[in-house]
Amino acid sequence: MTVNKFIRKLLDLKGLIVSVFQLKARDKNLILWVKTYKNGCLCPKCKRRCRIVRTMDCYREWRDIPVCGWSVFFRYYPREVMCPTHGRIQEEIPWAETYARITYRFEYLMLVYCQLMTQKAAARILHIPKSTLSDMLHRLIKRLRDGHRIRGLKTIGIDEISYCKGHKYATIVYDIDRSCVVWAGPGKGLESIDVFFENNLSEYQKKNIKWATCDMSRAYIGAIENHCPNATLVLDRFHIAKALNDAVDEVRKEQWRIADPDERKALKGLRWLLFKHSSNRSKKDSRTLNALSKGNRRIHRAWVLKDEFEQFWEYKAQWAGERFLKRWMTTALKSRLDPIRDFVQTLRNNQHRILPYIGSKLTNAIGEGLNRIIRIIKNRASGFRSLPAFIDMIYLTVGDVDLPAQIPNNFRTL
Ligand SMILES: [Zn+2]
Repeated sequence: MTVNKFIRKLLDLKGLIVSVFQLKARDKNLILWVKTYKNGCLCPKCKRRCRIVRTMDCYREWRDIPVCGWSVFFRYYPREVMCPTHGRIQEEIPWAETYARITYRFEYLMLVYCQLMTQKAAARILHIPKSTLSDMLHRLIKRLRDGHRIRGLKTIGIDEISYCKGHKYATIVYDIDRSCVVWAGPGKGLESIDVFFENNLSEYQKKNIKWATCDMSRAYIGAIENHCPNATLVLDRFHIAKALNDAVDEVRKEQWRIADPDERKALKGLRWLLFKHSSNRSKKDSRTLNALSKGNRRIHRAWVLKDEFEQFWEYKAQWAGERFLKRWMTTALKSRLDPIRDFVQTLRNNQHRILPYIGSKLTNAIGEGLNRIIRIIKNRASGFRSLPAFIDMIYLTVGDVDLPAQIPNNFRTL
């Protein structure tokens, strides 16, 4: 076995010949002059075998994956071909995308590493500066998602997430059925979500959306009802429960404010107890809460209402749920607790968006789950200063396109 052949085997260069190799010990660079077995050249656009016009005067260089601390580079004099359709054009390079300066293998590894670790760590392993990696990753993801259309969207969820200090938000749209992110864009509110509906979905696709879920933000509700005529909107159960918890907490705070020091002692530590779902409560917790009926009747009343409301989510028949909701709202209005009354008002306005929950049991739990993954990415990178970098990472980890799978099969090295 010749040395060149050995290097070819070692580096797993399928279909390539190493004609010359140079080791530059000072920079730890391994430079390989490569060429293909086949003599013919293809047009990069139509993949047709074409006549070679000339060989370029200067060589091109591609970065390959590093081996044992050595950075590996391919060098090659590309040739120009004459394609009947596309005219004079540089030949197709079998190991890399036409204008890329890195090989497919490098692209694949970059995508996989960035899914697993911070860009900083990936850059270190791949022997390139972090800023270069960010640029390359951005271009690569743009190329791989180019021309991508959203498909088969039936159930959508909308939520927002902050990506940087100072109230910078991104709006995220989920495909709940396939549990992935189909779109992420700047800002929150009506303008942001309108961009999604107007630019990314056809009229047919909008009509095809059957279910939608979001929080109680008026912008998202408005956008869904505006753009998706056939969608049944179900307000997210957890956001409603949270709104009720907040109302109960408001009552507690009011009572705290007017309480004297002795009473405050009794009210201490009540906050999390009031939030607890009935299924998570211990006997001691229940005793403390029941004791409130003598200690502080207003808080007790708010808590009882909150506890009763939990039943609503268990109903299986729409009419029964509706009857329960009506009764509950009447009782709650009689409670003379202002925060609870405000909540009832919200509930009354959104009744038709809450009741469909009973038939569909649709929540944004999948969206929240994806949101959690996105938050991990954000924290791992200690926040993102620019939105495009953040969106890149969202598409790479929880997007609707499996990006590493877009790299040709025989270059996927892991
Ligand atoms: Zn062509």
